[in-house]
Amino acid sequence: MSTVNFDSVDVTFADGHQALRSVSLDIADGEFIALVGPSGSGKTTLLRSLAGFISPSAGTISIDGAPVSAPESLVAVEHRGLGMVFQQHALWPHMKVGENIAYPLKLAGVRRPRRERRVAEVLDLVGLAGMGGRRPDQLSGGQRQRVALARAIIHQPRVLLLDEALSALDEPLRATLRSQLQSMAKDLGLTVLHVTHDRSEALAIADRIVVLDQGRILQAGRPAEVVAQPATGFVAQFLNDAT
Ligand code: ATP
Repeated sequence: MSTVNFDSVDVTFADGHQALRSVSLDIADGEFIALVGPSGSGKTTLLRSLAGFISPSAGTISIDGAPVSAPESLVAVEHRGLGMVFQQHALWPHMKVGENIAYPLKLAGVRRPRRERRVAEVLDLVGLAGMGGRRPDQLSGGQRQRVALARAIIHQPRVLLLDEALSALDEPLRATLRSQLQSMAKDLGLTVLHVTHDRSEALAIADRIVVLDQGRILQAGRPAEVVAQPATGFVAQFLNDAT
């Protein structure tokens, strides 16, 4: 079954700008999707509309077969079963790493002993075992990014949204985190939507690449297919520029 479905979704902002145009996309359970496209093509808007921060002006977004975006079936952001990591990972500087990570569980009313167990588990998963007592300013950029990832998965979401989550890191670290992310997603059975401007990264990491331009999906397919048979000259050029 598909985890996430976009059916003819339009997003038009208050100023009349149409950021998504008739977007239809069916994402299978456990699939790792890379969203690519030029600046302003609608990648972040697609993630934010799935998360529930933006309402579509037309069409339907469904999670596990149930519409979540229509006014009569609207599902709140915190009940969509999603984890999110954005480029600006925004850890709370006054809270220790462990408290930062545990915060979503605290909000959900999970008691301290269980929170602490889960924090230890996810810190281990992201390779930061034993670092829960540090403050964010005592970590490197890559470690902070891992903390953001740990926080995003602590409530065991089925779907993980990553918006340029690795972009602030330098290349060797990005490559390491990329492969860890890929294996973690497979181990946990996570469905991932990963927005990246790095086309080589997209080709290397994803089960399927979605190429957006001016709010439309130009092509969605396996990396090898999209490279071998680009749907348009634009897709060919866009991917070519990356290699
Ligand atoms: P980038 O790679 O630069 O992050 P993107 O592909 O993620 O770009 P979006 O952030 O989704 O693009 O933006 C898509 C379009 O919608 C852009 O033209 C942007 O200026 C516009 N846009 C985004 N948010 C709003 C808003 N709140 N009001 C009006 N227009 C907006």
